[in-house]
Amino acid sequence: MTLGAAELKGKIKEGGCCDKAIKAGKTCEHPCCVEAAKDGKVCAKCNKEKKSS
Ligand SMILES: [Zn+2]
Ligand SMILES: [Zn+2]
Repeated sequence: MTLGAAELKGKIKEGGCCDKAIKAGKTCEHPCCVEAAKDGKVCAKCNKEKKSS
């Protein structure tokens, strides 16, 4: 069991802010992501399943 990076529901976008934070052993500090994490989810805004150009 690891403490720190919580398991959140949803798909984390690779290379996104949350992905980087988790890989650094932290949780994302963006206000929108913090709010989503309170619900045990990943931020939908920052982790959209969308192909970036
Ligand atoms: Zn984020
Ligand atoms: Zn966000």
